[in-house]
Amino acid sequence: MISFVIPVYNEEKGFKKFYTEMLLPELKKLKYGYELILVNDGSKDKSLQIIQELAEEDKHIKVLSFSRNFGKEVALTAGIREAEGAAVFTMDADGQQPPKLIPEFIKKWENGAELVIGVRGKYEKHGFIAKLGSKWFYRIMGWMGVKDMVPGSTDFRLIDRCVADEYNKLTEHGRITRGLMDWMGFRKEYIDYVYGNRLAGKPSYNFKKLFQLAIDSFISLSTTPLMIFAWMGGLITFAALVLGIFVLIEEFMMGDPIGLKWTGTTCVCIFITFLIGLVMVSQSVTAMYVSSIHAEAQNRPLYIIDRKNSRNLKDGKK
Ligand code: UDP
Ligand code: MG
Repeated sequence: MISFVIPVYNEEKGFKKFYTEMLLPELKKLKYGYELILVNDGSKDKSLQIIQELAEEDKHIKVLSFSRNFGKEVALTAGIREAEGAAVFTMDADGQQPPKLIPEFIKKWENGAELVIGVRGKYEKHGFIAKLGSKWFYRIMGWMGVKDMVPGSTDFRLIDRCVADEYNKLTEHGRITRGLMDWMGFRKEYIDYVYGNRLAGKPSYNFKKLFQLAIDSFISLSTTPLMIFAWMGGLITFAALVLGIFVLIEEFMMGDPIGLKWTGTTCVCIFITFLIGLVMVSQSVTAMYVSSIHAEAQNRPLYIIDRKNSRNLKDGKK
């Protein structure tokens, strides 16, 4: 069996069309059997009602409904945890990722790939800002040690059961699904595709949300602001050191040739500045430890399931 996981957020206008005209014909062709896990990510429109109705008619469909909007990354995580198939296929609900390519993904999986990743961009033209933004996103991710991300890789992907099992063990909260999966390793294959147009509705990832997503991925532990202070502290210490050495040489070794008339007070000031820099550096280091302890200690549930609205879950509850 193959599990399909689709996060749904405010997709009332296009979802039914996407499901019946684009997805279902492909699902019917599958020789494996399938389940379709629709994760309602706290939609504010009629999406939930629509997918519940679909689930009433078709027992392949499971509905997992969040109590509020937790974001696509968490929705994917929840769906993958719920999935029982030998492979898990994730895709968007708006038809931008063509279900026509499903057989291609499955073929690569049958040939041994454990992670088949849809890559967009090869056949597309992007605006200047989008290009620049994504370039820097991948560059900064690289600096942060996430080196295995192929630019343009998306959540349109098939993962083998073993990848899903490992993924389910991860507990961190500030998560970017695709980033984590790429980091996990396993045998990867890539498929280029063209990101289509939305069937209906508006994308919920506007510039602000995308920016937020990038910020989330970079500073989920908020060490970047701390790093700024650490660098500033380092700079101050260095400047004070250079100035101090300059004073020592100019005044006390060369006999004040420029006539700056440094006093003892000057030396004390420079020394104190030097110490302030050191204090800033050591404080930032401490704060970095505290922030990582904080992130670990929070340990909130990753999401809260609205049991009343979820359907056909594997634990048998409503
Ligand atoms: N989505 C979600 N929660 C959100 C935002 C989006 O589950 O908070 C879903 C949405 O329903 C869609 C997918 O994530 O299935 C991609 O969203 P969108 O089309 O807005 O993003 P884009 O196409 O711009 O990447
Ligand atoms: Mg979309």
